Amino acid sequence: INSSSQDNAIRGTNDDAVTSKLSAVNTGYIQDKYVKYFVRRPSKRPPIINRGTYVRNTGLDTLIMKFLEGGGENVKKQIVSFGAGSDTRYFNFKETSRKFYKYFEIDYPEVTSKKIAVIQKHKDLSDLIGNEIQIGKGGTEIYASDYCLISGDLREWEENIVSHLEEHHGFDRSIPTLFLSECVLIYMDPIDSNKIVQWVGENMIAAIFIVYEQILPNDAFGSVMLQNLRFRNIELRGIHAYPDLQSQKDRYLSRGWTRAEAVDINEVHDNYIDPGEISRISKLEFLDELEEWRLLASHYCIAWAYIIKDITTKSLFDH
Ligand code: SAM
Repeated sequence: INSSSQDNAIRGTNDDAVTSKLSAVNTGYIQDKYVKYFVRRPSKRPPIINRGTYVRNTGLDTLIMKFLEGGGENVKKQIVSFGAGSDTRYFNFKETSRKFYKYFEIDYPEVTSKKIAVIQKHKDLSDLIGNEIQIGKGGTEIYASDYCLISGDLREWEENIVSHLEEHHGFDRSIPTLFLSECVLIYMDPIDSNKIVQWVGENMIAAIFIVYEQILPNDAFGSVMLQNLRFRNIELRGIHAYPDLQSQKDRYLSRGWTRAEAVDINEVHDNYIDPGEISRISKLEFLDELEEWRLLASHYCIAWAYIIKDITTKSLFDH
């Protein structure tokens, strides 16, 4: 098994993510007008998967919105989405007139070129980006006023990506920045993913890092989860280094970050989502596999951490 066939398999996980998202949209869990453009073969997912997609999405959106709202809309902020795949958050934020200085997305060129083809095909997407759209690097990158889609390998974050962002696309180390890894860093060797965590901790003045990924590899459910992925030539390389909530937090705390939290999807479901919403989604589909849902939800977590070196930005994260 060579590494590039593994990289291909990892790129394929984006199709799963977006197909699941469309299933949750079509069943009424989440609202998103744009996901459908990125799915070639829609397929309906089982109720526990739809619920998982809902909780994942709502939990992450809640954290991202808090960041965007913190300190008021006039504070200059940027978002960096690692392995953004077909994520439509940028378009949804623009549709609701959310303001940010810049939204950066990074993925392999094979993935970004497809995203660009979809954007070019649908005027409602390109209209949200605005009229100053430039396409670069052989159709694998987009540069616009508040959106920047970059192609590259995150294993070369410091050498190739961040320098490119900084020199040509206005990435600014001195402003509050949210870094998002939704099922991305977990596929990388922890040596490579931690280079990014370390870099952010050392170089940014005020940053929040948000990760959504699998945990608990060692119980029966976890072993099956890993085995199923292995059949598809996919390894969760980071899961043994960060197998539970405590190690997820320690990943940042051991590197001097100001604060870190990690909760599993059960906890997000029970404590972080509006009960009215839970009651609404409960009516969408009958969920008879409650135990299975609890088990599945215990194997995914949201971890977030922030680092602040400038006291004036403290209010941004203190809630
Ligand atoms: N974040 C998106 C979401 O949650 O909908 C996509 C998640 S998908 C499971 C993982 C994405 O990470 C893929 O699009 C893959 O190409 C990207 N990715 C993984 N490793 C990468 C690397 N070393 N460099 C760039 N992109 C990478």
